[in-house]
Amino acid sequence: MLSKTIQDAFNDQLNFEIYSANIYLSMASWFDERNLKGFSNWMKIQYKEEISHTTQFYNHIDERGGRVIIQAHPAPETQWDSPQATFENALAHERIVTGRINDLISLAAGENDNASLNFLQWFVTEQVEEESNADGVIQQLKLASGAPGAMFMIDRELGARVYTAPPADRSNA
Ligand code: MG
Repeated sequence: MLSKTIQDAFNDQLNFEIYSANIYLSMASWFDERNLKGFSNWMKIQYKEEISHTTQFYNHIDERGGRVIIQAHPAPETQWDSPQATFENALAHERIVTGRINDLISLAAGENDNASLNFLQWFVTEQVEEESNADGVIQQLKLASGAPGAMFMIDRELGARVYTAPPADRSNA
């Protein structure tokens, strides 16, 4: 059984994952508007990952006898100055998520909630990957600045990204 404190904190994070999904879908549309289909593909996969994270929190709350509460979500940004600015925003957002996961771990440790600590470990690894992925694209875009064909090549590369459901998300099994 989840404590009230953990249930509330996990619900906040579940809702933050939905907010994250909305941000990436908004970014996808910004890229589609510019016909950068590879960048848009990358963002749509990111969107799916966030929905999957949402489901993972849902399952954990439900399996521990808790109740999922869906909240109102802030409207995501709709405009960015450049592809690089978009990915810098994505990286900054993922750093916030990493901080939130760390805070949840501190909270679960304080409550001696080992099942939640175990559940959160997957997200620790995931956040390393999320930050690394966004930063990798930023580095490519920095190298590409001024080179006319480079943006096309990055777009093509990002278009090859495919979505893989995480093993922990049993709803996709
Ligand atoms: Mg997430």
